[in-house]
Amino acid sequence: MADRYLRFTGTAPGRFLTRRLGLPQPAALTRWSPDRPALDGGLLHLTAGRSALGLAPVLARTGIGPAGSGPAAAVVLDATGVRDVEALAEVHAALHPVVRSVAPSGRVVVLGAPLDPADHHQAAAQQALEGFTRSLGKEIGRGRTVNLVRLTDAAAAESTLRFLLSPKSAYVSGQVIEVGAPQGTVPPDGDRPLTGRTALVTGGARGIGEAVAGTLARDGAHVVVLDVPQAEQDARRVAERLGGTALLLDMTSADAGARIAEALPDGLDLLIHNAGVTRDRRLVNMPSERWISVLEVNLASVLRTTDALLKDGTLKRGGRIVATASIAGIAGNAGQTNYGASKAGVVGLVRSLAPRALDEHGVTVNAVAPGFIETRMTAAVPLFIREAGRRMNSLAQGGLPVDVAETTAWLAHPASGAVNGQVVRVCGQSLLGA
Ligand code: NAD
Repeated sequence: MADRYLRFTGTAPGRFLTRRLGLPQPAALTRWSPDRPALDGGLLHLTAGRSALGLAPVLARTGIGPAGSGPAAAVVLDATGVRDVEALAEVHAALHPVVRSVAPSGRVVVLGAPLDPADHHQAAAQQALEGFTRSLGKEIGRGRTVNLVRLTDAAAAESTLRFLLSPKSAYVSGQVIEVGAPQGTVPPDGDRPLTGRTALVTGGARGIGEAVAGTLARDGAHVVVLDVPQAEQDARRVAERLGGTALLLDMTSADAGARIAEALPDGLDLLIHNAGVTRDRRLVNMPSERWISVLEVNLASVLRTTDALLKDGTLKRGGRIVATASIAGIAGNAGQTNYGASKAGVVGLVRSLAPRALDEHGVTVNAVAPGFIETRMTAAVPLFIREAGRRMNSLAQGGLPVDVAETTAWLAHPASGAVNGQVVRVCGQSLLGA
């Protein structure tokens, strides 16, 4: 699982050699830790066009002080007021002089407005921000990330800005995130925002699911670690370590929803659909069992249990559903027609259900779409394909399970009610897919 190349390029001879040979030079990413909870440095707030967003108080609440004369750790460019091509020149004028000096592992966040269907000049200029963001993400290097947030209300986007402007979003780059109208109250971003909430993490016994369970527990949630009976030992170990409970259950069983409801008589706040399997073969060689089993675990059981837990009210108002897609469901992948279909199905589920679930149940529905994440699943991939998967992204390295976990924790946050129907890739801006 260890990325030896990343360690090698962190040494002086490694840096020298890889530079001479023109090889990728991944930067060691700064991730969240209790000793390092914030970015190292200040924030630069820039504006292009005439903005009416009222961003300053929200940025002040993130706790990142203004950048002094040193390099900024974070740059926020408010481009919500850009309505035509002329105003786009202000985007260039604002970022051109500062981009070189953004600190390693720093953040650039561009803020845009929703596209105006009645004004194609505004829509062209705002869509241009997307191409700009994705291109800057590909060239900025040194572990720095660039993301675009489309919003109309700065306060509704506070939890999103806090996430993107922190070490928690180390492997999220080149993303476009839409934040809708404010929903409910926006509680302060305390250290344990999920206190009093119950989270169910499917496939929580290992890999990404184990990291998600750990991060939600860190944020105060009571975690229920669900996994198949064969994974009993691991599931109990994880649950015990986190002060949670284990629930041994195959998600594909017809009565999975009823059994979850029975195990959680006080209800559930966070439903995290993480369990997933691969059974790779090219379509010409794929027997129907492989097709059916992947579609069953990754999609059909997600649909069935979600329906059941929403219908019987187990999933409470103010709740969150976070499903797990994959870049394979967005870009496609040879040998994974079954897996790609199942993960694209998750994207369809999220887009269709999100507005109705919010209207009818007060629950948001989003997905994380991991790219290459260092787990047992990817350690089993043959060496050359694995190496290609690791390097083919803007950060030139694989992500860690905790990167998916931090993204899930942001979507699960009580203040993230305005983030709904989003599919957020945790892929270091993979070159595969959009
Ligand atoms: P993993 O194989 O390490 O862990 C998956 C867990 O799900 C296991 O504990 C397994 O026992 C459990 N599980 C499988 N079928 C189940 C069922 N029917 N009922 C209950 N539990 C079940 O996988 P991972 O790498 O941690 O991946 C987690 C999720 O992220 C999956 O949905 C996967 O498709 C997705 N994903 C992973 C990557 C990656 O690079 N690792 C990339 C994209 C998407």
